[in-house]
Amino acid sequence: MAGKGNKHGFVIAIDGPAGSGKSTTARLCARRLGFFYLDTGAMYRAVTLKVLRSGVRLDDERALRQLLRSTRLELCWDDGGLRVFLDGEDVSREIRSPEVNRLVSAVSALGVVRKMMVAEQRRLARGRNVVCEGRDIGSVVFPDAQLKIFLECAIAERVRRRRAELKEQGLDKGMSDSEVRRNLLQRDRIDSSRDLSPLRRMPDAVLIDTTHLTIEEEVAVVCALAQRRIQGEQ
Ligand code: C5P
Repeated sequence: MAGKGNKHGFVIAIDGPAGSGKSTTARLCARRLGFFYLDTGAMYRAVTLKVLRSGVRLDDERALRQLLRSTRLELCWDDGGLRVFLDGEDVSREIRSPEVNRLVSAVSALGVVRKMMVAEQRRLARGRNVVCEGRDIGSVVFPDAQLKIFLECAIAERVRRRRAELKEQGLDKGMSDSEVRRNLLQRDRIDSSRDLSPLRRMPDAVLIDTTHLTIEEEVAVVCALAQRRIQGEQ
């Protein structure tokens, strides 16, 4: 199924703002199609946690580079979902904390961080059929992806989904709707306006507004598009 000389196999790139449904859609599509799932946001979150713990300043590029070089990141799957290991420690829960939410967009805007993350993402996906989701997947990480999707969703619905997610993880304590809303909008603003790899819809990406779609409907739409492209390649 390898596509047009693409050494990455068949790549489905899913981009969109925070809370637009990327992670759930990507995870379930990957499972249905038998593809590898790559959550790049989890990688930026884990690096942010490392930066937070180290106390390294964001304007100290040298120290940051050193810190990143000494960082071991692993993503793996078990029945409970995606597990993220930072230097051998399971940080799957901690990377979703309010502290990480507050800093992750600033860390992700740094060139030294993006360069290493993009290289690592390409390495992880090499030779595989993959559903990869993030902000710059169709534009920078896999510009040759055989299928590019851009998810959109109204802010009120994104807040509702993010709250439900936080509640499920026991991380919603003392958080109001307006705080969740503020964080989502602030991250969108930084992610869309940064100089390096800003979040944007590529002209060849299929736009899907998920506001009124159930998760099953979202997955069905993306999988149907993928099947059509895969058949077109064979
Ligand atoms: O997808 P998620 O909300 O977990 O991503 C967390 C943050 O990581 C985003 O707000 C963004 O700042 C950053 N990110 C990025 N590029 C990606 C994926 C995530 O800059 N490909």
